[in-house]
Amino acid sequence: MSLPGIGKTDQIKANTKNKELKVKDKIKRIFREQFLKEPLMVFAPGRINLIGDHTDYNSGFVLPAAINRGIFMALAENGTDSCKLVSLDMGEAVEVNLKNSLRPTNTGWANYIIGVMDGLRNQGLEFNGFDAVFGGNIPIGSGLSSSAALECAAVLGISRLSGNEISENDMISIAQKAEHEFAGVKCGIMDQFASIMGKEDNAMRLDCRSLRYEYLPLDLKDCGFVLLDTKVSHSLGNSQYNKRREECCEGLNTIRKKHPKASSFRELTMEMLEDSKNELTEKVYNRCSFVLEENNRVIRAGAYLRSGLGKEFGQLMYASHEGLSNLYEVSCCELDLLVESARRLKPVYGARMMGGGFGGCTLNLIANKGKEKSISQLRQSFETAFGRKPGVYEVNVIDGARII
Ligand code: ADP
Ligand code: MG
Repeated sequence: MSLPGIGKTDQIKANTKNKELKVKDKIKRIFREQFLKEPLMVFAPGRINLIGDHTDYNSGFVLPAAINRGIFMALAENGTDSCKLVSLDMGEAVEVNLKNSLRPTNTGWANYIIGVMDGLRNQGLEFNGFDAVFGGNIPIGSGLSSSAALECAAVLGISRLSGNEISENDMISIAQKAEHEFAGVKCGIMDQFASIMGKEDNAMRLDCRSLRYEYLPLDLKDCGFVLLDTKVSHSLGNSQYNKRREECCEGLNTIRKKHPKASSFRELTMEMLEDSKNELTEKVYNRCSFVLEENNRVIRAGAYLRSGLGKEFGQLMYASHEGLSNLYEVSCCELDLLVESARRLKPVYGARMMGGGFGGCTLNLIANKGKEKSISQLRQSFETAFGRKPGVYEVNVIDGARII
């Protein structure tokens, strides 16, 4: 039931705001108790990607939006040469001595922050010893990019603490480099870009080659985005992710021998790919044709967005899933079942797996009319097939990383 004078969407926004305040207050309180200081508070969001997966590292287009789930971090300088990093969600702490060179540790989550510290140093942005406590309201390892949220909270927090001015572009590239070099995932630029550059009620169409972007307003009066979480952890995914990257590279290098103009996937055409089909393995051919098709879908999706979200946009989401599952082979049976079930429900305009793959969430675009029933039917199908409940998250699109 809505409160008088408040529409349903506003009320959902107000409720989620309350929940966010609770996480923020908890982290602040724990920081104060542990370090007896007033911290600087930072929030960096995770993201959804409306369409365009595995295109970012192939010089293509993506269409992400920052969401109201992410990482909250409390930080303050401590007057020493060491940094104490406390992860509330993992219940662990790691100490880093700034007098030593910064290296990856055996503690996975700490590497995202230490990688950022290393990146800041390499840019000549020195900082003093600090303490940090962080935690989130974003599922970890579910394809909503908790890793980028963590890196972006760290890069904004640490640079601000030391009074260093740093551009948004530098923050994005330091965060991405931390993931490459300290976490060992050769990710594209999309996740960090979305976490820093997000804008309320807007998606961003980003050209991952030039880093040019435009905001595209999301008209969410009649429908909304709902995430269904398979809760399958994509731990296998990181190595497979890097493998897909290599396969695309292999394809491009082979095609380039015949078509030297194809210096990246942007110059590559379907004709060039067909022309080189005999020189490519079936697998590599499929990977390349997925990337070309997916890029094309992002461009078409942007045009549909301008006339409003609806069935046409949804059809592109279903087509994207099919490509990810059959050609790029990064789906899994849980994701496929959720998308197949969604296809049978009229109020669900579109659904697709999202992110690196091998688990995590599906993104569903659902008409407000019939939304609750559709969600419960999707839940039921999942439960019948796998004997457990999926996670369900309704998300709002919000601004990027900020001091709070
Ligand atoms: P995704 O980015 O899709 O959520 P990743 O596998 O890329 O999944 O990143 C997940 C990793 O990021 C975790 O294993 C952990 O190391 C780190 N991480 C993310 N969120 C948190 C958190 N709230 N607390 C501690 N570590 C986190
Ligand atoms: Mg990630």
